[in-house]
Amino acid sequence: MMASQMPRKQGGNVLVIGSGIIGVSVANYLLKAGFGVDVVDPAIPGSKDQCSYGNAGGICPGSCIPNSMPGVLGNVPKWLMDPEGPLHVRLAYLPHALPWLLRFLAASRKSRVEEISAAMRSLHRFTFECYEPLIKEAGCEELLQKRGQLFVHESAEGAASGAYGLDLRRRHGVRVEILNQGEIQDLEPALAPIFKSAVYLPDQGQCPNPGRLVAKLAELATRNGARFHRARVASFEKVDGRVVGVRLEDGTVMRADQFVLAAGAWSTELSRQLGDRIPFESERGYHVMVKGADTGLKIQTISADRKFVLSPMEEGLRIAGNVEFSGLRKPPNMHRADALLKQARPMFKKIEDGEVSRWMGHRPGTPDSIPVIDRAGRADNVIYAFGHGHQGLIAGAVTGKVVAEMASGQPTSVDLTPFRRDRF
Ligand SMILES: Cc1cc2nc3c(=O)[nH]c(=O)nc-3n(C[C@H](O)[C@H](O)[C@H](O)COP(=O)(O)OP(=O)(O)OC[C@H]3O[C@@H](n4cnc5c(N)ncnc54)[C@H](O)[C@@H]3O)c2cc1C
Repeated sequence: MMASQMPRKQGGNVLVIGSGIIGVSVANYLLKAGFGVDVVDPAIPGSKDQCSYGNAGGICPGSCIPNSMPGVLGNVPKWLMDPEGPLHVRLAYLPHALPWLLRFLAASRKSRVEEISAAMRSLHRFTFECYEPLIKEAGCEELLQKRGQLFVHESAEGAASGAYGLDLRRRHGVRVEILNQGEIQDLEPALAPIFKSAVYLPDQGQCPNPGRLVAKLAELATRNGARFHRARVASFEKVDGRVVGVRLEDGTVMRADQFVLAAGAWSTELSRQLGDRIPFESERGYHVMVKGADTGLKIQTISADRKFVLSPMEEGLRIAGNVEFSGLRKPPNMHRADALLKQARPMFKKIEDGEVSRWMGHRPGTPDSIPVIDRAGRADNVIYAFGHGHQGLIAGAVTGKVVAEMASGQPTSVDLTPFRRDRF
């Protein structure tokens, strides 16, 4: 569609690239700010092709622990050696991933961890406030549950052993409770009595169907005037150095006044066209769903020892985890999903067998665990909103709000300095 065909709104038209949780959140907040909105994506919002479909559903205002923490290097060999462990790097892919991995390790410096943690908290603390108005208007309040989050350990000392992480959370005002074996059973009787200690974060939340949430937010945006186009953006169209449109794969040009790049793990191919080389990898993650499995689990529970998540979902039990470096094109290795189910079974008192489905998605990963929310270096009418890694569901609505503030030329409600594109 050409610009002349688009009805112009008072604030102008914004074209959003990507309709995952980031894209649909941005679209809704842009509409509220008075912009006309087009969203372009070959995938249907909320469908399996999006990372936003298959995540673990954590909506956690208190999420402020980066993936790369002091001492991480000591754990890497153990994780890599274990075929059912949480981390995999395909050997042939290692040369490609190495620069990213070195930056990841560099981010584990304590001084840097302090900065990243503060940045994470600054964005995530507003997650409920930013989702609630959208979810209410979309009529799907059941998709945000506030039941807390439980990190279980198989040893009695486990919960206290992550003292620095606990200290970080407490310093950022996150309520933390340490539970013993009996208290774990009282809180979550569905779990087998094999856990001797736990960290409970009572103020965290969860979404029991993240794909449906994306679909509902896309429906809401459509009702409020956004137009969704099933197409892939191939390139930016520039005139005198300014981006005036995007060219789709079929050659069609769509014009707009501003652009938001929210294409998740695929974003860097497009940001490179604007001269920005941002270190970026797909951190491939897996889930296995046991449809209809009634374990009795109510609270999202993380195996702190084995690094995966058990999430009670609308359709059954989801077990999610793994970080695999293998790029955007290689087919999934569903043995990783099967391994998650195998390891999860002993965690429950009962787990009824149901229809099992497996999924792999591409987390959009920066090496320092925080996204890029900034204007493009050489085109100030293009806003980047990508790289949310393991926390894109948490940060979706907040990102939507701050991007709409940027597009409107207003001061942003969160200081975006830590999320600059040129911080690497
Ligand atoms: C196993 C697992 C568990 C997770 N658990 C959690 C959790 O509990 N809590 C949490 O907050 N996060 C979690 N995450 C991370 C979270 O899912 C992601 O950070 C988030 O979904 C990223 O959203 P997005 O909109 O950036 O990307 P996506 O949802 O992947 O959407 C990007 C969209 O861009 C489109 N696109 C790509 N290229 C183009 C193009 N050229 N033109 C147009 N469109 C394009 C794609 O088709 C896609 O639809 C988890 C991830 C995984 C894998």
